[in-house]
Amino acid sequence: MKTTLKTYITVKDICDGFVYNELEGKGLFGLSGKLTIQPEYQRNYIYASDGGKREVAVIESILKGYPIGLIYFNMVSENNLEVLDGQQRITSVGRFVTDKFAIKDESGMEQYFGGMAKDKKAKILETKLLIYECEGTESEIKEWFRTINIAGVPLNDQELLNAVYSGPFVTLCKEEFSNSQNANIQKWNAYVSGSANRQDFLECALEWVSKSNIGDYMSSHRFDKNITELKKYFTSVIDWVSGVFTDVENEMRGLEWGRLYEEYHKKSYNPTKVSDEVQKLYADPYIKNRRGIFEFILGGSIDTKLLEVRVFDETTKKSVYATQTAKAEKNGVSNCSHCAIGHDANKSKIWSLSDMDADHVSAWSKGGKSDIKNCEMLCKTHNRAKGNR
Ligand SMILES: [Zn+2]
Repeated sequence: MKTTLKTYITVKDICDGFVYNELEGKGLFGLSGKLTIQPEYQRNYIYASDGGKREVAVIESILKGYPIGLIYFNMVSENNLEVLDGQQRITSVGRFVTDKFAIKDESGMEQYFGGMAKDKKAKILETKLLIYECEGTESEIKEWFRTINIAGVPLNDQELLNAVYSGPFVTLCKEEFSNSQNANIQKWNAYVSGSANRQDFLECALEWVSKSNIGDYMSSHRFDKNITELKKYFTSVIDWVSGVFTDVENEMRGLEWGRLYEEYHKKSYNPTKVSDEVQKLYADPYIKNRRGIFEFILGGSIDTKLLEVRVFDETTKKSVYATQTAKAEKNGVSNCSHCAIGHDANKSKIWSLSDMDADHVSAWSKGGKSDIKNCEMLCKTHNRAKGNR
């Protein structure tokens, strides 16, 4: 790969012909049309999020004469360059000179580029950028792009995969799953955490359909001209969850719905009963892990481990241990009631506190509470054998 450092290209040159696509959230072109700011393997523009602090910082740096860092172009042909690294900064500058956002001046007043003093405007437009133009084969460029990950916000896993497997499939994927204008996002957001811009919905959809083999899936579908299977699968999972669970709870966001769909979508559920049970479990103070409620119900309300039912505290355990042990010693039997009724050597064994675990006499699932009256210490073997009822 050949690289050439260019030091004379100005903000004005870069912003000549700048177009920002509001719908796709992308800066498109610059350098009088020669430069593609956001090739399809690049991520969406994210500097405008979080209140736009990062895009404002780019402009303030330029006004103060601070460097904004190295920028890399990929030379596709003599009249066609693509931004490899620096598209967020370039889009910030382009958006500013086309009056898409304002900065605050010394007195705290909002100031758009169009309304700035001439000398300030000139300072911005005449700022020279440090640009490396790189020439190489597609695979060289992409391999290198995959490893640089320099400056600003690092690429996340999905953004890297989008770069590595760029092509018609990724383009269609991004239109559907990375477009913050997509009307379905609000619905998806109830079950999937993250944002469209950072590819979280796309990552989730791919994760589900590929059963966690995202790279393989993207590689084998790379040149597909449709995303039918991906879209269908994702929609099936979302529709299934929202059909079974009619309540939308915060704890549902980001659960492994793909796996749960595979395991349980063939079982039938009565949404009204499910809803009653969700409400009942949400009201139960002994449940520590509310995120486990949904899988617990799907599995037939059996596996209480999923709920992490609140256990007995140390004081309770010590006090129960002391009473139980004193009584056992007096009677010459084991302080584990299960050992005491056995026929082996443990029949009269006095276990130490650290060899015992607390057990619910009346199981939590049958309404038993985690208080001292419902606590019994058992040796570890018997406690395990009794299981988490
Ligand atoms: Zn025992």
